[in-house]
Parts: sequence; structure tokens; C-alpha cells
Amino acid sequence: MKKNVLGIYARQSVEKETTGSIDDQIKKGIDKANQLAMSYITYIDHGVSAVNEDTSNRPMFQRLIEDIQTGNVDAIFTMDMSRLTRNPVVNSRIANLCAKKDVVIHTGLEGVIDFRDDSQVLMNGIKALLNQDFVFKTKAKVKSVLRNRANEGKSFAGMGAYGYKSGNNKELVIDSEESKIVKQIFDMYLNGLGTGKIADILNSMKIPTMYNKKLRKGTYEVKNKFTGQITVKEAKHVRWVNNTILGILKNPIYMGQRRYNDDLISAPAIVSKNLWDKAQEQISKNRRLTGSKKHSYLLRGLCTCARCGRNLAGRTRENKKDHYYQCSSKITKSSCGLRSINIDYLDDLIWDKVIHSNLISEQALKELEKIQNPIEIDNTLKKIEVLKSKMNEAKRVKDKTIALFQQELITMDEVETYLRESNLVIETAQKEIKHSQELLKNFENFKQQYDDYTNFQEQLTNVIERADYDFKHSLIRKLIDRIIIDYDEDTELYKIDININLSVTLNEPTNETDCQTFYYPSSKKINEANNKRYSNYEPEGLIGTDFSIVTPPRLPVSPH
Ligand SMILES: [Zn+2]
Repeated sequence: MKKNVLGIYARQSVEKETTGSIDDQIKKGIDKANQLAMSYITYIDHGVSAVNEDTSNRPMFQRLIEDIQTGNVDAIFTMDMSRLTRNPVVNSRIANLCAKKDVVIHTGLEGVIDFRDDSQVLMNGIKALLNQDFVFKTKAKVKSVLRNRANEGKSFAGMGAYGYKSGNNKELVIDSEESKIVKQIFDMYLNGLGTGKIADILNSMKIPTMYNKKLRKGTYEVKNKFTGQITVKEAKHVRWVNNTILGILKNPIYMGQRRYNDDLISAPAIVSKNLWDKAQEQISKNRRLTGSKKHSYLLRGLCTCARCGRNLAGRTRENKKDHYYQCSSKITKSSCGLRSINIDYLDDLIWDKVIHSNLISEQALKELEKIQNPIEIDNTLKKIEVLKSKMNEAKRVKDKTIALFQQELITMDEVETYLRESNLVIETAQKEIKHSQELLKNFENFKQQYDDYTNFQEQLTNVIERADYDFKHSLIRKLIDRIIIDYDEDTELYKIDININLSVTLNEPTNETDCQTFYYPSSKKINEANNKRYSNYEPEGLIGTDFSIVTPPRLPVSPH
């Protein structure tokens, strides 16, 4: 049952911001509660940032989430969404929770956000991306200092990377003892040992971790991600765990490239690039083999058979090493005969060629250009000019009327008539100018939106790297309407039509969908191509220009 309680959330961040003091935010929230005839509970977090996925630094935010879950709060007030979070992943969780619990968010600056309304959901997600970008920008200065240090070959502030130490001039140099361990870790991993097993071996060999060495006698604090509880641990008790090993295997510093945000800067290498690449291949292979069942059906419900119109269903072979989508007709008596398609292939295609490429933003920008008509802007500007000269003309008539009256050349009646007419012209012109200027402002906003979307892909790429399965799952469904799959036995090519939903990347509702067609060689064909060492596979005899050929980076696992 609805309790009619508004949860008012206020946050003052560590950075200076423009959304007002805590008192201001709360006052606006109480006004809103009164206006809605609701009672309210206030939730205030002081001096914290909302950029992280981990929200344990914001106890009142967590309390608010709990109260929504338990039904103690049935609407939220906040000045704008960035008070609640600047993190796109958290944003997506809030969206899901609010939609599930029928909770709408009243904001001081952005109106009402209703996550039950699909069209609002992705717009909000995109805003979250932009919000996070704001934080990235404010941190850019600090980063550039760090970057300069890095370019000069100076070592990291803080703990640094295992295998390296600071030289005499604080430059990064290889630690001979630790680098041996790094090499061993790569060797063991490429010889088929798992990360957990490698950690066990290092522990049993009593190899100290970075913490053991640098904080030999010290203690350090560990914060529980979920409860926020802090435990003090002694450095000497730190052990190697699988994530430490995985972190080392994935860090490009060991093949000579230090990661600085999105940049790579050269560093002394401990293993060869070839070896490092092999390890990455092995990591992604292992991930696919042990990946959750859920993950392998990322496109569940989106794929349609071009032959019979049925959905494609995800299947896993009993050895769990092979996932594929097959036409649902296959389990009936009247199979349409569509060749099944390997899930990893299709996932890669969707991620690399659609989500992770510029495809969607480019299509969205094209649509925006259509709506943002330059002729319309030009006409509005001209119209304002005409109205202004009309108005000035009327003012001149007014002045002249008064002058004529003063010279007793016209009568009082005539004066009144002229003045009334002139005033009417002036008033009408003023109104129309105001209206036109508002229109222009809208175009300006539109331009802003356009610029935002120009950055859309960049933002998206940033987030995708850190997104969890649920976020990916919902993102794909927002961006793609349908994937229609056919297979041509003669050319051994899949034809994959991807219907991109543009209404979600555009703020404007539109029924436009954009169909992109990909031709994708069968695993058999790819095997042949790989065996012939073709670096780029080009099929013969294909007519038309509207296709791209996808050459998968890995050797395939055949579905049949
Ligand atoms: Zn079918």
C-alpha cells in the first residue's frame, strides 16, 4: 500500500557545484512535498562524491535505496539526477528499482523522471554518462600532472606496480626479484594453471606480495563493499589471491605500456608483447568457458529467423564449451533449416560493429541533422529582423503623430486612432519577436544536444568497459530493436540485419529504425580462411555495397 512519503535526497559534494547548499536542496524538497500533499523523509550525505559504483561512502543514499525497496518511500525528490549518482551503472540500478517499485523522481532542475516510461530511461542513462564526464573533466588537471610525471618516466605515486621500483630519480625501474615472479606468473598461466592455483603456489612458496613487502610491519584497512564495515588487517597476513594474479596478467605495463586512463605510455617491459597477447587470449577464452550462462544469452529474445520468423533460442552444448542460437523451429517437426550461429561470434559482432563502433551515434546524428533544419533557423532570424523593422516603423509613426498633434496639424481623434494602431503593431511585433527568440533558444539547446551526441560514442565506450551484465543487457535492448538472421548455403555467409532503434539515442520520439546489414562467414568458411592465413577474408561473388565483412579475431569453435 502507498504510504505517500517523499524521500528528499540532498548531497553536497567535495567539488564546488552549482545546485545549491544542502539547506536549499532540502527546502526545495519540502516545498515539493507540500505541493504534492505528501509527508517526507530527508536523506543527507555531506562532502561525498557520487561518481563511484560503490556507494558505501554514502550511508544516507543507501538508506534511501533500502526505504524504496521496503516500500517506505514512494517518490523521490532531488535537485537533479547527478545528486543521486554520477555513475552510469548505479544510475541504471536506480532506474530498474524505481521502475519496479513505481517510484518517480521529482527533480528541481529536470522535471519529473519516470523510469516506467521507456523513452525516459535511456535519455537518463545518457545524461548519467555526461554527468560522469563532468567529473572526468574536473579531474583532468590532476591527471595531466600525473601524466607528465609518467612521460618523464617517473614512477607512480602510491604503491606502483608489482615488479617495479623507483630509481634514484624516481623513475620506474624493474625490480629484479619481483620481475622473476611476474615472468613465472605468465609462464604458469600459459601452461594452463588457473589464477587461483597460481596464487596457491606463490603462497606456498612464501613469496611476499607487494603489501607484505612495502607494509611489512604495518596494518591497512579493508572496507566491506556491501556493509561498509572496516576491518583492520595486518600486512603480513596478506596473501596472493586469484584477483591479484589476474590483475598482473591483464596489466599492459608488463609488456612495456603503462596504462594512464585511456592512454598507454611506454615503460620497461618484463615480458614480450607476444607472450602478453597470448595471456590476454587465454583470459578471454577462459572467461568464455566459465562465463555465466546468463552472459552467453546476452541477445536472448532479440534474434529472429529470417526464414520462418520464429525467435532464435540460446543453446549450450553439454560440454558447456559451445553456445549457439538456433531457430526455434529446429525442435519442431517442421524445421526451417536455418544454420545455427555461434553466440560468441554474434556477441562480438554486435559489440564491436554496432555498440562499440560509431554506427549508432552516426545514425543518431544524421537524424538530428534532419530535425535541426538550418533553413528553419535562418528563416526565424530573418523573421525577427522583419518584425523589428516593423516595430521601429510603428514607433516612428507614433513619434510623428505626437509631433503633428503638437503642431496642431491633426485632431485629437486622429491622434487616438494612429496611436492605437501603432501600439497594436508594436505589441504584436514584440510578442512575435519573443516567440521567435524562444524558438531560436530551442535550436540552441538542440545544438547543445547535438554536441552531446557527438561525444556519445566516446562516453559509451568509457562506460561499456566498466558495465556489468545487467547494464549491457538493458543497453543492447534500448539500442537494438531486432536482429534478423539468415544464412546462404551457397556463399556460406550469414546475413545479419540489425534494426537500430534511433528513438532512444534521440531525445525526440521517432519511429525511425535504421537497418544495418552485415554478412558474416560461417565458422567453416572462417576455418578455411584462417588455414589459408588470409588476414582479411573477402568472399567472392557478393553484389552490392551495403555490407561489411567481419573477420573474427580468434579461431572459432564450430557449433556443428
Ligand atoms: Zn526459422
